[in-house]
Amino acid sequence: MVPDTVRRELCAIVGPEYVHDRPAELIAYSYDGTFQQQRPDVVVSPRTTAEVAQILALAHAHGIPVVPRGAASGLAGGVIPLAGGIVLNLARMNRILEISPEDGVAVVEPGVVTARLQAAAEARGLFYPPDPASLNQSSLGGNVATNAGGPRCLKYGATRDYVRGLTVVLADGRVLRPGGRVLKQSTGYQLAQLFVGSEGTLGVVTEIILKLIPLPRERATARLAFPSLDAAAETVTTVLTAGLLPTAIELLDRTTIDLVVGYLPGGLPEGSEALLIVECDGNDATAVQAEVARVGELARGCGALEVQVATTPPERAALWEARRAISPALGRLRPNKLGEDIVVPRGQIPAMVRRITAISEEVGLPIPVFGHAGDGNLHPNILFDRRVPGELERVERAATLIFEAAIALGGTLSGEHGVGSLKREFMAARLSSEELWAMQAIKHALDPKGILNPGKLFPTRPGDRTGWLAALPTLDGVVPCSAAS
Ligand SMILES: Cc1cc2nc3c(=O)[nH]c(=O)nc-3n(C[C@H](O)[C@H](O)[C@H](O)COP(=O)(O)OP(=O)(O)OC[C@H]3O[C@@H](n4cnc5c(N)ncnc54)[C@H](O)[C@@H]3O)c2cc1C
Repeated sequence: MVPDTVRRELCAIVGPEYVHDRPAELIAYSYDGTFQQQRPDVVVSPRTTAEVAQILALAHAHGIPVVPRGAASGLAGGVIPLAGGIVLNLARMNRILEISPEDGVAVVEPGVVTARLQAAAEARGLFYPPDPASLNQSSLGGNVATNAGGPRCLKYGATRDYVRGLTVVLADGRVLRPGGRVLKQSTGYQLAQLFVGSEGTLGVVTEIILKLIPLPRERATARLAFPSLDAAAETVTTVLTAGLLPTAIELLDRTTIDLVVGYLPGGLPEGSEALLIVECDGNDATAVQAEVARVGELARGCGALEVQVATTPPERAALWEARRAISPALGRLRPNKLGEDIVVPRGQIPAMVRRITAISEEVGLPIPVFGHAGDGNLHPNILFDRRVPGELERVERAATLIFEAAIALGGTLSGEHGVGSLKREFMAARLSSEELWAMQAIKHALDPKGILNPGKLFPTRPGDRTGWLAALPTLDGVVPCSAAS
């Protein structure tokens, strides 16, 4: 509940045209990339760090929940305002403030779309590698808050590896500027890193200093078709133990291939059960071609049915378009999906995929598997129709079994999407009570009233694996809106 006096103060801070509370406006800010939905009481769109600081000081004084929101492409329910309150829409803070080749950094506001920074860096011969498949929608603030990754993580690392400094507004409105432009530092706790992956629960990121590296001049991409998932998985291990480090190794299973086959020029050989997309980069065209050719040879040794190398930019673009089309294309099979993001040690990929196939049969739901095979990060997507009675329970069963299998194989719950509200009840299965205690102690120190993104990250009842289902809003919608309209 946001009192009218607070609404008036919000209008005074950002201007009335940037405070929204009509039902249609609230619905537009009630969802993310998952199937969850809940309305906030009010949406506020600040333009500066000073405005964010004033909003948080006000919310803190009144104990009102605040949910920072980037582009809402998140896949963990991170921006769903479960407790109502203020959604802090950061889309207006969208300036690239500086690109400095001398210091090898970009300074950006959080609402800059990922692909926009990449294009601006590339125009200066520089490279910002993190490449979530959502890069044309996601914001850099959201990328920092979730520690977003993507195919190029294998060689270049995730968002965390590019964050040098941040401006963060804390829950009570204080402004912190951890890190900076320097290449290295060993000056106390690495506070900037603490906020990476914190999913809006510790502070609001309002400015980001990101590392840029030289842009590799040459790239080559290969498409490898296999008669079995095991042969594809064996290729991954063989390539990575042969002294090669491709930029990306992406895996598509049979169900996923069927969804995007239309994007693949020339179709696929009969009997293709798995596909790898492998990219190599560097500055020497001959060396890059030789590396991708060697990957092809190794793949053939593991039983590949076909090796196709794309060297021209349009050929390469077509392959990556097929990869990026996967997530949206899943909607063709069922209207709803729960996209998981488990990570297992690379050597366990075949065992994990076999387990997911068995789980799919056990619960009677399709679960296509794709993902970043090079770093063991798989995206089993549980497809369902939440209008069908009992289907959500089967989804929950499948998710529980997938998490249990990943943990049993030495893996973890999320590699890049974060925990949000969807995975919070499983945290106790992955983290020790000491780890959870340490995380909660940090949360309490920085946000003692718990106003920042409540209901995210931490289990509501530690050890209770069914809480997330109970926490989902009902099918027909959205909780009653307490906002005056
Ligand atoms: C089709 C599709 C493909 C995807 N592919 C990938 C992929 O390959 N790799 C990957 O990592 N992710 C992927 N995602 C998930 C998603 O795009 C990422 O999690 C992305 O980082 C979210 O950015 P966003 O701006 O949309 O954040 P939001 O969804 O708006 O927010 C995500 C979380 O960050 C917090 N947050 C946002 N901005 C701030 C801020 N300025 N300060 C503090 N907290 C903030 C929010 O409170 C929330 O908890 C995909 C999503 C879709 C829909």
